[in-house]
This record gives sequence, structure tokens and C-alpha cells, in this order.
Amino acid sequence: MKNIAVIGAGTMGNGIAHTFAQFGYNVQLIDVSQTSLDNGIATINKNLERMVAKESISEEEKNRTLSNIETFTNLEEGVKKANLVVEAATENVDLKLKIFRDLDKFCPEQTILASNTSSISITQIAAVTSRPEMVIGMHFMNPVPIMKLVEIIRGYSTSQATFKNVEEISKKLNKVPVEVNDYPGFVANRILMPMINEAIETLYNGVAGVKEIDTVMMLGMAHPMGPLALADFIGLDVCLSILNVMYDGFKNPKYAPCPLLVNMVMAGKLGSKSGEGFYDYSQNRKAEDVAKMFSK
Ligand code: NAD
Repeated sequence: MKNIAVIGAGTMGNGIAHTFAQFGYNVQLIDVSQTSLDNGIATINKNLERMVAKESISEEEKNRTLSNIETFTNLEEGVKKANLVVEAATENVDLKLKIFRDLDKFCPEQTILASNTSSISITQIAAVTSRPEMVIGMHFMNPVPIMKLVEIIRGYSTSQATFKNVEEISKKLNKVPVEVNDYPGFVANRILMPMINEAIETLYNGVAGVKEIDTVMMLGMAHPMGPLALADFIGLDVCLSILNVMYDGFKNPKYAPCPLLVNMVMAGKLGSKSGEGFYDYSQNRKAEDVAKMFSK
């Protein structure tokens, strides 16, 4: 595997592209939006500069990493030589089904198609392709260059060969792959999202304020970030769509998203990426700064 196409240059896509490029793969980074591509490359550049400043990589490694990434707005063009595709576009079922139908058409027969979806069924995505045995979940964590875990999700039809290939490549990225079966929310979000939702519900019920809730969880449970700051970091729209997938998938009211979360997303308050969520991110504060704000 040498050529890795990454679909979507947002929060996750640029981190995934950065990581593969840093480990010597040729990355084709694809997004429908030229602005997202430009922002994605700018973010990768900034994160690499930070790594150089911390002396975790050399200037030469930074330049080599950047030169391993090409950008495309045309999907067919971007994926035509891919050995592996990692899809990290917006968390929306219809959008992902359309992308996978197109990938199946445009990619060589032997290309493995992976999705970084947080919650959407890999089996459902695989079913719209003619190669369901070569479709798999590759769920990286945010921020991708730093976080060690990759949840590898076996769809109903995923073959052992596909699983082994993806497990192998995850190890080559210095990540720790964990095998998981395909049920709503997989493992990470099935456990994380009810906690975030409960923190929002606690705020909604007026039990405590934003900082107070986060402080209880950080100081009382030794979490490195409070659940409300973490929700801002992930994106409130992403949290809402994951909860909706689990609510629909299990038909269990315990996953019903808190009305405050629904309202905030409708109002465009999506967390650090939109400038406001539970915290204020104006004055150019970016997602990465949220983590720093809480690691002090
Ligand atoms: P994001 O909103 O930051 O970025 C999504 C990108 O996809 C945007 O740049 C958008 O222009 C692009 N896009 C939309 N339609 C496209 C198409 N048809 N073709 C190519 N690009 C397209 O979203 P994100 O937070 O990076 O999430 C991406 C995926 O990763 C989602 O499936 C999400 O569930 C998953 N995920 C997110 C996190 C997180 O912490 N944010 C963590 C793990 C997994």
C-alpha cells in the first residue's frame, strides 16, 4: 500500500492525511471545497511546525511530509490510483452512501474502502458497493497525529484479508488498532456520547454551570478535558448526529439527544469550529487551543 486517498479535509481528514504523509505514504487529499483543502493544508503545516518547535520531528521531515500530500476537488481524479481510501467527509448517511457508490465506480478493483465514520453502519455503507468484503471502518481519534487508538470496525461482510491489511497499516502509523464489531456507536462513542449528553442534560436542568460541570469531571474523575469542552472540540453537530444514529439504531430513549444540544446545533453553535459552543472561541482561538486551555 503506497497511495492513500483521504476524502474530506476537515478536522479529521487533515489529521489523517498528515499522519499517513508523515509515515511516508503518498496522500491524495480530496474535498468538494477548495477552501477546506486550503484550510486543511494550513492546519497540517501549523501542526508540523509545532512538532518541529518541540523537536519531535526535523524541518526536513516536515517538508517531506508536506510534499507527500497532493490535493484534489475532483473525486475521480483523486482516487484513481488509490490502494486504500479513508473517507472522512461530513457525518451524514446519504452523503456517505453517495461517496461510496462513487468510490466503487472510480477506484481500482483491489482498492480497500475505509470510513472514519463515528457511528454510521459500515454494513450499510458496504452494501451500496460491489465489494462489501473490502469495506471497513477505520475510526481515528481527534487529534489524529497524537491519539494512538484506531477502532477497526468489521462490517457484516468485511473479509479477514481486508481486516488484516488495515490492522497492519494502522500499526505502521504507530497506532494501536482495536477490533470492534459493527453496531451503532461502535465502542468509543457508545460509551463517550451518553456521558457528553448527560453533561449537557445536567447543564440544561440547571444543576451546575459549564465550567463547574467540566471541573467536576476533570478534577473528580481525572479526565484531561471536561465533557462540555470535549463536545466543543469534537463538534456539536458531530455529537448530535452520533446520538441520533444510536437513538435510531437501538430504539432506546437513553440515547435521545438533549434538547439543548439540538437547539445549539440549529442555532449554528457548533463548538470551536464555529467560534462558539459551550465556550467562546472568538479571538482566533482554535480547536487545538481548547485542549491546551484545559491541559494547564
Ligand atoms: P468536518 O465538518 O470538520 O469536515 C468534513 C469535511 O468533509 C469538510 O471539509 C467538507 O467540505 C467535506 N465534504 C463534505 N462532502 C464531501 C464530499 N462529497 N466529498 C469530499 N469532501 C466532502 O468533519 P470532521 O469532524 O472532520 O468529521 C469527518 C468524519 O470523521 C465524520 O464521519 C465524523 O463522524 C468522523 N469523526 C469525527 C471526529 C471528531 O472529533 N470531529 C472523531 C472521529 C471521527
